[in-house]
Amino acid sequence: MARSYSNSKIGTFRTCPRQYKFQYVEKAAVEKPVSVEAFLGDAVHRTLERLYRLKLNGRVQTADEMLKSYHEYWEGPDKDKRKVTRENLAVEDYINTGSDALKRHYEKYHPFDDGVTMALEKNIRFPLDPAGHFTLVGVVDRISRRDDGVVEIIDYKTSSVMPTQRSLADNNQMGLYQMGVKYLWPDFERIELKQIFLRQGMELKAVMDEEKLEEIRYRTYQAVLEIERAVGDDNFPPKESAICDWCIYYELCPAKRHRLALDEEIEVAFDADQGKDLAEQYLQLSESRKKIDSELKALKEDLVRYCAEFDVTNVAATEGSVTVSATESESFPTKSDNEKEYLAISLLAREGGLEECFKLDPRVLYKEFFARKRLPEDLEARLKKYLIKKRQSIVRTYFKGQNKRPDE
Ligand code: SF4
Repeated sequence: MARSYSNSKIGTFRTCPRQYKFQYVEKAAVEKPVSVEAFLGDAVHRTLERLYRLKLNGRVQTADEMLKSYHEYWEGPDKDKRKVTRENLAVEDYINTGSDALKRHYEKYHPFDDGVTMALEKNIRFPLDPAGHFTLVGVVDRISRRDDGVVEIIDYKTSSVMPTQRSLADNNQMGLYQMGVKYLWPDFERIELKQIFLRQGMELKAVMDEEKLEEIRYRTYQAVLEIERAVGDDNFPPKESAICDWCIYYELCPAKRHRLALDEEIEVAFDADQGKDLAEQYLQLSESRKKIDSELKALKEDLVRYCAEFDVTNVAATEGSVTVSATESESFPTKSDNEKEYLAISLLAREGGLEECFKLDPRVLYKEFFARKRLPEDLEARLKKYLIKKRQSIVRTYFKGQNKRPDE
């Protein structure tokens, strides 16, 4: 059976693989408050759905009727689940923002005959890959057919910031909607994408050609394969960012649990102090190593200077001696010396047919070609038997007030 993905499910993985695992793999049981922003979006979407559904049945609501159903939603059974996170804003402010946006929409589009509504809150579902292993699902707010025959895919937005026109022209979600609509109605010739920004009272429109849709399909498919690999390897590392503060899995998250346990904010079955001791020791030793490395570097420079000035090569000490020798050699820059020049000489060597000068980079071979299925089938099959799995532990240190740096 084909596995289903939506644009937002893929987006969750991109934002944080661990959050994806909590949500879609483990289906972790946590309390799920709804952010007031999401509540506002839902309230506005439902109000507009009702407005256009009634219109489909020949009745145009008055502005007051529309606003009444909007306010009823805010008073509905889910009202206690909403959560305000921004300081200085109350639920009332969000309610007013929504009703202002709806009034603006009403004034601009009344009597709502700028096209015939063909579907509202339409579920779309279509195969993402030719073999049908994966299905893409989504919900389109409204599909409407204009008098000139163009079919519009309409998406309402309640975000406070409007994106650029260019971002709509490359918008994954809208491109996938178009593929879904085209799958359901293959005869639609001309399709336009429209996002209506309700707070701003503005529209963004775009048309995507086949080439753009193929690009979106390809990258979505790649993202799905990446998720499938993560599932196969059970590899969902936490990706910390500003959104952690709003993450409902915060207390379960492996990136947060130790700190919470140490601060006695959660109860855990492990010894938080033991972990703290290990981390303290590690930080101290790596700090000492940093200091020693820098002292060694300075000493080496002094020794080199000393030997050059007094023409000696072996400097004796009680416990042994230090030998200083100087060699000078010529070579071309490596990638880490100077990446630009390295690429330039690589091209020159390739022009000269010096294939033996190229070292195989197995990581590039895997990531760019094998994993992305860009190799001829027979080569892919022959390479497959060499695949190995490596698990490595990366330890990083973080000192308060400093950026993180890889350590070992
Ligand atoms: S708290 Fe942050 S790192 Fe942890 S799961 Fe949530 S988003 Fe990911």
